[in-house]
Amino acid sequence: MDRHPTPLTDRLDRGPLLLDGALATALFARGLDRDVPGDLWNVERPQEVGEVHDSHRLAGSQVLQTNTFRSNALALDALGCRGRAVEFNQRGAAIALECAAQSPSPKRPLVAGNIGPSGKRMQSGGSRQEWTDAFAQQAEALAAAGVDYLGLETFTELEEARVALEAARGATQLEVSVSLAPTGSDGDLLLIGGGTMTECLGVLDAEGATALGLNCCTGAEMLTALPHCLKATERPFFLRPNAGLPVEEADALIYPDDPEAFASHLAAAIQLGAAGVGGCCGTDARHTRALRQAIG
Ligand SMILES: [Zn+2]
Repeated sequence: MDRHPTPLTDRLDRGPLLLDGALATALFARGLDRDVPGDLWNVERPQEVGEVHDSHRLAGSQVLQTNTFRSNALALDALGCRGRAVEFNQRGAAIALECAAQSPSPKRPLVAGNIGPSGKRMQSGGSRQEWTDAFAQQAEALAAAGVDYLGLETFTELEEARVALEAARGATQLEVSVSLAPTGSDGDLLLIGGGTMTECLGVLDAEGATALGLNCCTGAEMLTALPHCLKATERPFFLRPNAGLPVEEADALIYPDDPEAFASHLAAAIQLGAAGVGGCCGTDARHTRALRQAIG
């Protein structure tokens, strides 16, 4: 069944998308404690979150992802704020939507309601229903707040990605993109819990993801996996690697790739057939700007 409306598909029909960069690491750089969920700042320091969105908007991002990566009841449970999922999603969506509205149509970036994994292994216990309920609640809160589509990302287990996709599609009429986090940098990558990346992409394609992708985990060398992925699915495909592999220095994680090198490497993804590129951990508006220039 077609999903209506289809803002993501409509935008992709006009050409490849420049996605944005990381939120969590940008908030760490603004003083967020690494043990605190960045989603809390949607309520406590919304201006900081808005400034990160705005830096990407001004650098040319055509999608802004909400600061709601951990705003599902299961992930928040581990952080002691399970009951605040709806509030964090509403606030996170409002901040991103307000920022997007600063660019009038047709330049207005899409707002992707960001949904990350629970942080718990599904095999470790609990019922499938518990996972479904948590993702459905988050998807519903983001949809009610007015996001344009749902962006599931950084999933390392196929089963959890399937449950989240099914829950999001069941609870809302929004288009859903699903991005997996690979465990290696080339060839046919493996997900935690088994299954090759191409098999996993095939499953998510068949279950109705509007777009698919890879994000996080590795640097721009993630590009080497792209041809395999494009053989596994005809859905629009996004790549959002980290700014290289981080090294720990004086209690901070340093991501080594400078924006120009990151962008010139990753820009080739568009020539190879990717439908969108952006950055994950360690990337900021400088990477977005460099990508804007590199992809033209
Ligand atoms: Zn990441």
